[in-house]
Amino acid sequence: MLEISKLTHTYGTGPSAHHALGGVDLSVAEGELVCIVGPSGCGKSTLLRSIAGLLRPTGGRVALNGVPVERTPDNLAVVFQDYSRSLFPWMSVADNVSLPLRRRGMDKKGRAEATAEALAQVGLEAAATKYPWQLSGGMQQRVSIARALAYRPALLLMDEPFGSVDAQTREDLEDLTLRVRGHHNMTILLITHDIDESVYVGDRVVVLSKAPAEVVGDLRVDLPGPRDQITTREHPDFVHLRAEVGRLVRGMRSPSASAR
Ligand code: ADP
Repeated sequence: MLEISKLTHTYGTGPSAHHALGGVDLSVAEGELVCIVGPSGCGKSTLLRSIAGLLRPTGGRVALNGVPVERTPDNLAVVFQDYSRSLFPWMSVADNVSLPLRRRGMDKKGRAEATAEALAQVGLEAAATKYPWQLSGGMQQRVSIARALAYRPALLLMDEPFGSVDAQTREDLEDLTLRVRGHHNMTILLITHDIDESVYVGDRVVVLSKAPAEVVGDLRVDLPGPRDQITTREHPDFVHLRAEVGRLVRGMRSPSASAR
């Protein structure tokens, strides 16, 4: 459903130009959960912003269901790391979740049903009338996820979505993501700098090189399901994959890394 070919992006011009993306090729099939990892500052967010139509890349092509992305597609949602800036503090939790549905022209009854269902999926039924600032960071990020779920996007982009919460909440949100993707068979692209997280939640882990970023590894994660924070992380395949991804992120060659 998502086709990225020879994607390049350069910030600025002349001697101060920064080549962030150096020709990224990537295909994502419908229903896949693909994690993108890479060294800090390599261009992960630049890639995500190009896919979301928030940034016009300097070269190459992004197509969603065969249609070139030139502005933000209607059937796409993004969850950002900084939940405190992506929720409106003066709107209730339910209003935050239903806002994109209103913009989509859904009637009041439909909006109320979709909002209640999405809040139930993230376990926040009781917080519908609260305001974001009355909730913990992890709960606020669950509201952001509920907003994306209610919208039923074909493609969900997540940019370091669990980077600003504590370790326990992070694990809860990883499991929540695995659970809700099962409900809607959404296609998800999740950017993270956390190698363990990429292997734990991904069907595939795509590794980017340092800037100018290119795909240096594309590993399929075939771990026995359902995944579990304790048993999955001690599974020999998990330990092996984590090491492979770690080597690739550090630019080390590995004979067994399967670049597809
Ligand atoms: P990552 O998400 O992998 O940490 P980013 O895509 O945010 O990396 O950034 C890649 C590089 O591009 C970084 O060196 C960053 O400083 C630079 N960069 C990002 N946005 C801009 C911008 N608007 N103008 C200039 N340079 C930028």
